[in-house]
Amino acid sequence: MRFLLRKCPRCGTYTLKSVCPRCASQTKVAHPSRFSPEDRYVKYRVIAREVYKAREQANGA
Ligand SMILES: [Zn+2]
Repeated sequence: MRFLLRKCPRCGTYTLKSVCPRCASQTKVAHPSRFSPEDRYVKYRVIAREVYKAREQANGA
C-alpha cells in the first residue's frame, strides 16, 4: 500500500490533501522520494553483489 502523507510547510499540519485544510497553503509530500522501496532494492542488490565478489575472492583463484 502506498502511503502518501503530505505536510503543510507553513503551519506543519499533516494531511492527505494537496491543499492544507487549516491555512489553504500548497502541501508537500512528507516523505522524500529517495526513501522509495525501489531505491532500497537497488541498494540491497549492490550489497549482494559485493558479498558475492568478496566470497569468490576468499575462495581463491
Ligand atoms: Zn497549513
